[in-house]
Amino acid sequence: MKTLLAAVALGAMTLSGGAFAQEKGTVGVLMPTKASARWIADGDNMVKQLQERGYKTDLQYAEDDIPTQISQLENMVAAGVQSLVIASIDGTTLTDVLQQAHDKGIKVIAYDRLIRNSPNVDYYTTFDNFQVGVLQAQSIVQGLKLESEAGPFNIELFGGSPDDNNAFFFYNGAMSVLQPYIDSGKLVIPSGETGMDRVGTLRWDPAVAQARMDNLLSSYYGDKSVNAVLSPYDGLSIGIISALSAVGYGSGDKPMPIVSGQDAEVPSVKSIENGQQYSTIFKDTRELAKVTVNMIDAIGQGKEPEVTDTKTYENGVKVVPAYLLKPVLVTKENIKPVLVDSGYYTEDQIKP
Ligand code: BGC
Repeated sequence: MKTLLAAVALGAMTLSGGAFAQEKGTVGVLMPTKASARWIADGDNMVKQLQERGYKTDLQYAEDDIPTQISQLENMVAAGVQSLVIASIDGTTLTDVLQQAHDKGIKVIAYDRLIRNSPNVDYYTTFDNFQVGVLQAQSIVQGLKLESEAGPFNIELFGGSPDDNNAFFFYNGAMSVLQPYIDSGKLVIPSGETGMDRVGTLRWDPAVAQARMDNLLSSYYGDKSVNAVLSPYDGLSIGIISALSAVGYGSGDKPMPIVSGQDAEVPSVKSIENGQQYSTIFKDTRELAKVTVNMIDAIGQGKEPEVTDTKTYENGVKVVPAYLLKPVLVTKENIKPVLVDSGYYTEDQIKP
């Protein structure tokens, strides 16, 4: 009798629209913060694409607070989600909760940021993070015309958050381009501050970058000008540019230095249009959502998801198979083709 009732119930469910979602289960999507527009776009794109393919979703933001993200995860594991997509705040703090997820058979995809120190990370979807740094530094080489100008030019370096694995890839990628110019004396770092332990910016906080730029300017630039600043993220670039503007850069005979960035966030795209920030890196969050949802689908069907890299992302315990997308450099010259023609922004959204 029980079986018969269950069969009837199942039949009714399959007929109703919601039943499909029920079959595919709920995907837990965890994003670090709403303070940066890119993560809002990531969350929206993930939910949209998962729902289009019949999944239910539970999207949570943790306002960059580690205990909040851990308890969100614990709740999702307890609720028995089908899989987890996690953009971690601190990639080293999720080991215990991921063990609980594994014990319940929940698959885990590290989204954009690698999760470290856990064997229970099944896949990783991201952009080629080393290449992001290479492009940021190449834009500085291009902006300063380092190949044709004699120099020397003064530069200061900023890194991302030291608890984010990506920050090291960005920094190392950038230094692979800048180091030869530093070695030859064409680029000079008046503060002498190099290395992620000196130039990192905890939690990617724009106010921290602004305060550090203020200090650098007052301590080392009394009789000098800064010509370029390596910045790994648009939010930091905005803080850095505020510190520079406050002491007169970008007006009179003090040109704004060449400042890089990342994420093509609207205020920075406008700043590039206005000739303040020099460049940013476009990472199409629609594409990242797409490859992530493809993975979830493949896993659900018992198939091997497609990956493009099985060597790079060692997380302290294992090498996590990864799908890497291509980042794109954006300067004033290609804003329209890259950001508008692709439908990412409307012309109105980014009008200065
Ligand atoms: C992401 C970048 C972002 C940064 C700050 C990194 O993990 O890869 O796109 O700029 O976090 O949010």
